[in-house]
Amino acid sequence: MRIVLLGAPGAGKGTLAKDLVKLLGVPHISTGDMFREAVASGSELGKQVEQIMKSGALVPDEIVNELVKERISKADCRDGFIFDGYPRTVQQAYAFDEMLKEMGQKIDAVIYLKVSEDVAVRRLTSRRICPRCGKIYNLLSMPPKNNETCDDCGIKLIQRGDDKEDVVRNRFKVYSNQTVPLIDYYKSKDVLIEINAEEDHRIVVEKVMKMLGKVRA
Ligand code: AMP
Repeated sequence: MRIVLLGAPGAGKGTLAKDLVKLLGVPHISTGDMFREAVASGSELGKQVEQIMKSGALVPDEIVNELVKERISKADCRDGFIFDGYPRTVQQAYAFDEMLKEMGQKIDAVIYLKVSEDVAVRRLTSRRICPRCGKIYNLLSMPPKNNETCDDCGIKLIQRGDDKEDVVRNRFKVYSNQTVPLIDYYKSKDVLIEINAEEDHRIVVEKVMKMLGKVRA
């Protein structure tokens, strides 16, 4: 299955993707993770995108599209994928359609995770990450056992630079201006599945699987 997860930062795309990988057996592709890895490795690409990411703005379409084109040509994407954080602009959506068309493929479902700005901001500003193993915690909904240290590694959790409130608000604004138009775009293509992402995570996963069952049937 070829799936795109659409939604504001903090809607729970990454968390849902991890469950869907186990249930559907296709890879999770997060352009945000790919850029964070590039920054951490100090590569040329990393240097190009570091400041943009810090501000919460979007990396230019050509750079993202190029990265995605390369990624979907890999063997593990043959039977499908779950995209998280791409496409994020109408131009990216067009480019993605073209890439898939060239490969004789198409998107089966776009899962739109709907959350209010307040819920998204609350979730993101309370997100913490273990700098060693990468495990993600949430101080409100999934706190570590001992105050702000990783359950497995025992070291102090950190906050992603772009999860600070001012940057989160900017990311939400960028989302509203540049990504929200994709909701209508995919609705018009009849692939949009809308889910209330403010509900308990287990319910969200259940609802998504039920809707995907209908797409597959
Ligand atoms: P994310 O982890 O998906 O919130 O992405 C973190 C940051 O990476 C974003 O705020 C952007 O700066 C950049 N980024 C990730 N995906 C894209 C994309 N599809 N288009 C442009 N920028 C992106």
